Amino acid sequence: MAHLEGLGFVADGFDRGSYRRDDPVEVARLRALGDARALLIAREMPVLRKGGKELDSLMPIGEIAALGGAEVEALLGLAPGGAPVFAALLKDEAVELRSDASDGFLDRRVLVVPGREDLKLIDLRSIAVGGLLPPDQTAVLAAAKALMHWHARHRFCANCGAATDVAVAGWRRDCPVCKATHFPRTDPVVIMLAVDGDACVLGRQPRFPKGMYSALAGFVEPGETLEAAVRREIWEEAGVACGAVRYFASQPWPFPASLMIGCFAEAAGRSFKVDRVELEDARWFTRDEAAAMIERRHPDRLTAPTPVAIAHHLLRRWTYEGVEFE
Ligand SMILES: [Zn+2]
Repeated sequence: MAHLEGLGFVADGFDRGSYRRDDPVEVARLRALGDARALLIAREMPVLRKGGKELDSLMPIGEIAALGGAEVEALLGLAPGGAPVFAALLKDEAVELRSDASDGFLDRRVLVVPGREDLKLIDLRSIAVGGLLPPDQTAVLAAAKALMHWHARHRFCANCGAATDVAVAGWRRDCPVCKATHFPRTDPVVIMLAVDGDACVLGRQPRFPKGMYSALAGFVEPGETLEAAVRREIWEEAGVACGAVRYFASQPWPFPASLMIGCFAEAAGRSFKVDRVELEDARWFTRDEAAAMIERRHPDRLTAPTPVAIAHHLLRRWTYEGVEFE
């Protein structure tokens, strides 16, 4: 995949070191190293350290104990340079909820660590969109958040209901009663731009920021190919029949644990019927209009998603370079 400028949550330079996870002695050795670092998550929000104007997500590993210990720790891998990086899910009591103005799109909870002015909790979407951390750090933080979200929501065995134990350096949970093993989830989502000549389909959900239109998206269902999921979602949400489907690129999307699979779909015509339950609006947009949205000069102040999201890059590719189907 060609580099997509600004695409968020992609940690290509990070060594996950998965072969080390099975060896508890090796994991303990890495954790005891002086340069071991921890990414802290509390109530699904990253904890950052303020050093002057700079923010940092990588804490000394001793902060886990200083903040009351972790519910779960996981070895995420090795940073460039070799420092081991762990993720830790702090206990809920480690942070205090001061207010909550969440709007269904942004997590606007105000969480604080009592007595620690040097620490700041900021939701991951704001970190990514605001460029508050170097992109590599944001990407690894995304992995930490998604993995810790899974642990927080999967404490009990889905088969027999018993409490499960963390295993394999935080990458599995084992049931001591029925012996079932449980692995972290990643939910595949297709996100697609249906195109026909000089026009493409964009839609908006009621929870989107005002004026923003994006590519349509939906979860892949059991027993379904990516291509079939793309055609089904476009048909269900917009009433557009599509033929050829082309893969573009993918992106981890830790809200809470999706893998966005970006595709282009070749529409069989301009028929249209919007599913008003799923979408507030959807319609065909011309290439000129798409360019105006990307460049933030649309006369009706309509906008496209930011470069953090793969939807931006789908739209950008088609708008400026076009897409060919075989
Ligand atoms: Zn069980």
